[in-house]
Amino acid sequence: MRLIFMGPPGAGKGTQAERITTAYNIVHLSTGDLLRMNVKRGTELGQLAHSYMDAGELVPDDLILKMVAAEFKDPKIENGFILDGFPRTVAQATALDDFLIQEGKHLNHVLVMDVIDEKLVARLTARRTCRICGRSYHLSFNPPKKPGICDNDGSELYQREDDKEVTVRNRLAVYKRQTRPLIEHYMKKGMVKHIDGVGTVDEVFDRIREVLGPCD
Ligand SMILES: [Zn+2]
Repeated sequence: MRLIFMGPPGAGKGTQAERITTAYNIVHLSTGDLLRMNVKRGTELGQLAHSYMDAGELVPDDLILKMVAAEFKDPKIENGFILDGFPRTVAQATALDDFLIQEGKHLNHVLVMDVIDEKLVARLTARRTCRICGRSYHLSFNPPKKPGICDNDGSELYQREDDKEVTVRNRLAVYKRQTRPLIEHYMKKGMVKHIDGVGTVDEVFDRIREVLGPCD
């Protein structure tokens, strides 16, 4: 099973990716994790990536693709993978297509989680953080015992810049702008499967399983 997984911030993509990885016994290739791991281990690619990050520049496409390609040397990949956070651009997608052809491994599906903006905004703006210990709460899923007060130390909770509505809406707009051409790219190949991302973790996972087929 070889998958690309896309979804807006706040859709619960990480949780679903974990469920898929476990159920289908495939490798989770999250480019964020790959980048951190390569930098931490000080691999050649990691050192190169780090030099871009230090200079405040984006890590170039080909470097990210090389990190993904390096993971293909791991025999565990034989059973399949789920790519998360990559590709982000059509150029990356084309490079990935070429790489997969070389490897003789075609993609099965491109899963796209859909959740309406209003739900995402409501979820993402409900986080509150303690000014002193940094613990974070969610007003619906994990509220503090006393409103506005940290359970740990009684300090004031506040809303981080990242969690404010204007920032959240901007992130959602960036996601849409980035993914629209990508989705079109894979639509032409007939690979895109939209997943309704509204519901419990189990409900959403059931919809994914319907698309992917039995995982026995
Ligand atoms: Zn605290």
